[in-house]
Amino acid sequence: MKNRVIGIMGAMPEEIDGVANLLSESTHKILGKRKFISGKLNGIDTVVVFSRWGKTAAAATVATLISEYKITELFFTGVAGAIHPDLKIGDIVIGTKLIQHDMDARPLMAQYEIPLIGKTFFQADELQTSMAEKAVNKVLENKVLHEIISDESLKEFNIKNPKLHIGTIASGDQFFANESRKHDLILRIPSVLCVEMEGAAVAQVCYEYDLPFAIIRTISDTADESSHIDFPSFINEVSSKYSTAIIKNIFDLYRKTE
Ligand code: SAH
Repeated sequence: MKNRVIGIMGAMPEEIDGVANLLSESTHKILGKRKFISGKLNGIDTVVVFSRWGKTAAAATVATLISEYKITELFFTGVAGAIHPDLKIGDIVIGTKLIQHDMDARPLMAQYEIPLIGKTFFQADELQTSMAEKAVNKVLENKVLHEIISDESLKEFNIKNPKLHIGTIASGDQFFANESRKHDLILRIPSVLCVEMEGAAVAQVCYEYDLPFAIIRTISDTADESSHIDFPSFINEVSSKYSTAIIKNIFDLYRKTE
């Protein structure tokens, strides 16, 4: 049996708390102002950490998971702003293609091309993505959804029949909260489902270290002025609950395959 060490990165500290509570024999260590919590989940060595926000922070966090903890695969969870009109708050996106929308070294190279790598996007791994897909689908089943999220919160955030979307995620060091910036991104990269600040940076480091990964994002806002949701309440009552349940399901899948 392969000696797995699974890295779990969350873009919200509250998500990390939920996942860290699933660990047994847990210990922690502070490195680079990050708290790495390691332990066992379903008997598998696991390390859980808050990515911190933005591309640089997230890249440094995953690099530490690789070099210090020797993780063999990575699952990333967090929230994101909807770009595609079909996406609603409470939906979940799994990124198969990760683009750094603010990388632009023209005229030296093509727009979005990562210097020295020659790629304009990174592809998530099929196995981890399909495990994430199964795990998310289970969480979104009506019965399970109502067990995980209170009726009050589903009503508060108008979450009805949330869906899983699979496709392109754009990442950059910008929080999207206006229609014109959103519109500009749609024109530049029409396939984008949602926008966030870490995924494609994590994907770059995983690519460079040949580490399989999947990126899972809950839609928290619509990336424009109209998205005045109660962010802390959404994180506590919806996205953290999703993340914990999704990660739990992923580890159950590992148990079945070993
Ligand atoms: N809780 C913080 C907000 C953090 S937002 C506060 O209220 O101060 C930053 C996180 O949300 C990042 O992980 C980013 O990836 C994600 N995110 C959610 N919606 C986004 C949007 N519209 N644009 C960019 N990043 C978004």
